[in-house]
Amino acid sequence: MKSNIGLIGLSVMGTNLALNMADKGYKVSIFNRTVSVIDEVMNNTPHNNFLPVYSLRELIDSLEKPRKIMFMIKAGEAVDKLIEQLLEFVEKDDILIDGGNSYFKDTIRRKNYLAQKGINYVGAGVSGGEEGARFGPAIMVGTDENIYPAVKNIFEDISAKVDDEPCCAYISTDGAGHYVKMVHNGIEYADMQLISEAYLILKQIGKLSNDELHEVFDDWNKSELESYLIEITSDIFSVKDDNKSYLIDKILDVANQKGTGKWTNLEAIDLGVDISTITSALNGRFMSTLKDEREKASKIFKKEDINVNIDKKELIELVKYSLYTSKIVAYAQGFKLLSKAQKTYGWDLNFSKIAEIFRGGCIIRAKFLNDISNAFEKNKNIENLMFTDFFLNQINKNISSLRKLVSMCALSGVSIYAMSSALSYIDTYSSSVLGANLIQAQRDYFGAHTFERIDKEGVFHFDWIKSLNK
Ligand code: NDP
Repeated sequence: MKSNIGLIGLSVMGTNLALNMADKGYKVSIFNRTVSVIDEVMNNTPHNNFLPVYSLRELIDSLEKPRKIMFMIKAGEAVDKLIEQLLEFVEKDDILIDGGNSYFKDTIRRKNYLAQKGINYVGAGVSGGEEGARFGPAIMVGTDENIYPAVKNIFEDISAKVDDEPCCAYISTDGAGHYVKMVHNGIEYADMQLISEAYLILKQIGKLSNDELHEVFDDWNKSELESYLIEITSDIFSVKDDNKSYLIDKILDVANQKGTGKWTNLEAIDLGVDISTITSALNGRFMSTLKDEREKASKIFKKEDINVNIDKKELIELVKYSLYTSKIVAYAQGFKLLSKAQKTYGWDLNFSKIAEIFRGGCIIRAKFLNDISNAFEKNKNIENLMFTDFFLNQINKNISSLRKLVSMCALSGVSIYAMSSALSYIDTYSSSVLGANLIQAQRDYFGAHTFERIDKEGVFHFDWIKSLNK
């Protein structure tokens, strides 16, 4: 009997996805460039539905047609090299599936390249890390609409389920799946940064102990903030490494990053979309790595003493609703980027469906995504998530908490990059006048860049210098 699918790349993600597929009854041919890894997998995590193969030729011969070959390998050049190697063996109508974190423009390029050779290509964003891969990731599929049915069943079967609905969806053509996964990762950066800021405020201003922090996050996880990240944050505050001291207090406050957060930001700049709360999260990570410089600066820069007179309970409420409001902004920015992307790349994105599939398998899974999905369901063409009735109400209800908290942190010198940028975003977005008339005037003054007027149609230039007799 031939295998239903071939999986190349047996590192953490590939092995777990292969096990997940095999559990669901699919026969999987497994292959890895370093072939000793194949035997390690067969020894450590054997499965009756696994067929180990030791060359690409053997892999090709083992698969039912049209062949489905998925790779879970290091993103970048490795994918191009593998595609070239596979091209020696694959036949017309076979389907190559890249499930790694590939850059969406690479996916578009590879899709077009392979289309000329009659080979189908799927760029699948797979979210949820090792655990997700093993027991149910969220899967965002980018490919031609007529190719999706060939992979739909297997992807839906292995994906996470929420209310019995698979967290897997057809997103749009070529790079759309990888794009949505990239933006998901950007939002994940913001979510994590915002939670870490909430922690910092409660610790530095509220002087909460780890036990109290554990309780607060546990309570929040029973509210509108309910989410995987809040849940694990609560857990983290309860863990002691040697049964005496809290592990969180021993961890260096330096957070690195791998690349998808950076791509999201570069892309936002390219498309001219403000995702400043997500950008702040990335900057927060850059700044965190300057540990020695921060230590030095903390001794020489003048800062007010953190001595804010506020009741602990009141502070906890302020932080809670500031976190919630900032989170709305981060998601609104992520979806705004998707909205611009669909126009730029010719995709047809269903925002409600995208929010729905983020509800399971993903690191950003949260109750809140139901509200986002409902909001977009009701207002398919809305310019900004913040304009939808539900979120507009939430922002108007909670903005004063965010304003008060940001002011308090500014006065006491507590760093809240992402929360303060969320407030600025709301204030900028809701300002009908921004002072950009002066920027137009300056550009025309020094560079004759012209300007538009409010009282007349057209483009104008004024001889500022002559009129001033300079
Ligand atoms: P890695 O990203 O660490 O990649 C290791 C795998 O890539 C190995 O199987 C390796 O084979 C293979 N590989 C590297 N270069 C080549 C090449 N030139 N030709 C063929 N195979 C090659 O593995 P992960 O399991 O962490 O991730 C796999 C993919 O999934 C990546 O794109 C990653 O970004 C993405 N991803 C990862 C997540 C995670 O939590 N780890 C989450 C979601 C997506 P060999 O053993 O021979 O070196």
